[in-house]
Amino acid sequence: MIAGLLGSLAFARPEAPRPTPGHVVAWRDAVDWGAARDEVVTTLSEYLAIDTVNPPGHEARGVAWLGAVLDREGIAWSELELSPGRSSLIARIEATGGEPGAGDGLCLVHHIDVVPSETERWSDPLQRGPLSGAVVDGHVWGRGALDMKGMGALELMTLIWLARLEVPLQRDVVLVALADEEVDNLGARQLAERWGEIGCSHVINEGGLGIRDALFDGQSVHAISTAEKGILWVRMHAEGRAGHGSVPHPDEAPSRLLEAMAAVQRHRPRYRLDDDIAQLLRNVGAHRGGLTGRILQTRWLVRTLAWSRLKAEPTMRAALHDTIHLTGVSAQISGSPNVVPSQASATYDCRLLPGTEPDRQLARLKILTRGIEGIHFEVLSQDPSNGSSIDDPLYEAIAHYAVEDRPWAVAGPFLSVGFTDSLLLRPVGAIAYGYVPFELSAEVAGTMHGHDERVPIEQVGEGLRRLLSITLDVAADPASSPR
Ligand SMILES: [Zn+2]
Repeated sequence: MIAGLLGSLAFARPEAPRPTPGHVVAWRDAVDWGAARDEVVTTLSEYLAIDTVNPPGHEARGVAWLGAVLDREGIAWSELELSPGRSSLIARIEATGGEPGAGDGLCLVHHIDVVPSETERWSDPLQRGPLSGAVVDGHVWGRGALDMKGMGALELMTLIWLARLEVPLQRDVVLVALADEEVDNLGARQLAERWGEIGCSHVINEGGLGIRDALFDGQSVHAISTAEKGILWVRMHAEGRAGHGSVPHPDEAPSRLLEAMAAVQRHRPRYRLDDDIAQLLRNVGAHRGGLTGRILQTRWLVRTLAWSRLKAEPTMRAALHDTIHLTGVSAQISGSPNVVPSQASATYDCRLLPGTEPDRQLARLKILTRGIEGIHFEVLSQDPSNGSSIDDPLYEAIAHYAVEDRPWAVAGPFLSVGFTDSLLLRPVGAIAYGYVPFELSAEVAGTMHGHDERVPIEQVGEGLRRLLSITLDVAADPASSPR
């Protein structure tokens, strides 16, 4: 959305692309892509029609369906129960060379649950509603098409194609379908506890994706999440004198809360250009070329000339500072306007840049409200930011196939402003990247968690080709070829 920044200037070519290895091309060419696209679209359509809305989740329904598909292909799988009706699935294709379970496996992760929908607000709830899986108007429709059964269908078919083609693997490839990403991340927490048994060093999960005309018209930016902001969820409590609504006193909880909230609201955050975002802008700038491109490749020029344009875009703005976001206020006793309650509270969702520890953010909130009596904080949840280096063959493969054969596309690392299960898997040793291999308009990408969630059919086919290519690149025996 910084199109027009200093006008449009001549193009310069970005860094030379690396070639696609011959064995990846050979294995990929062994697939009939017309039929493979139709099959993955049908697979996604069926997956979307399974009700795994969380709460309550019912992810065991998703596991049963995934399991039935894997059974038809002769791929072994196991179920990890979370609670009655809720479970995750693990399926594995073992390395043919090397040692099975050597600990260097590639894990294709997605979550089975989806968020609830305001069904009546969808444009055609009967024909293409949240649980329809309808394939109409060039799209596959349903809650989860983007977040993230779409990716789940690509992962499932990637595993199936490895099995069908009998690709010799130099590392295990493991499909993990998790319960409860959208509420408490219980599936990922359970997985993290037994991460050693999973035997994987690398994870591909949700995160970034490709957006058309993201920063400049005609350029698609494929953001690969390499890091996620940390979280601090707090409830700010105010306590004070209870009493009758007819006589105001200065030491009442609601007015104390209001004063404290105003103090927090007045806080002016410090903006910082995170290393990953600086790298993404460098790549975008190199791809774009010209003077605008040069500005984006230079940190201090970004901070002086492009800063206000970047901050005007809400997601980018959120990625540039520690956010303190008021998400709820509560101060009443059964709705009676004439009763002054002794307690009132506000909830804040703070998202933290790398380098800001949750404790430090809590201390910042305490300093902001210092001097206001009766205020204390309750921590609801906290996790520091974490990330994985871009200096890794898996990152390089994702970045390569994200833009392969499409000169209008550029890829780069990105700090996710929201968090995913990757935030829980990195601390137990996983190198995790978030990338859903679709290239979408901003409008279609915006249907995630919103109304009319959908994915273009052609992108489902392209997405499978990209994910299978990434997997072949980092897991197939490079000396292998189809018989
Ligand atoms: Zn998700």
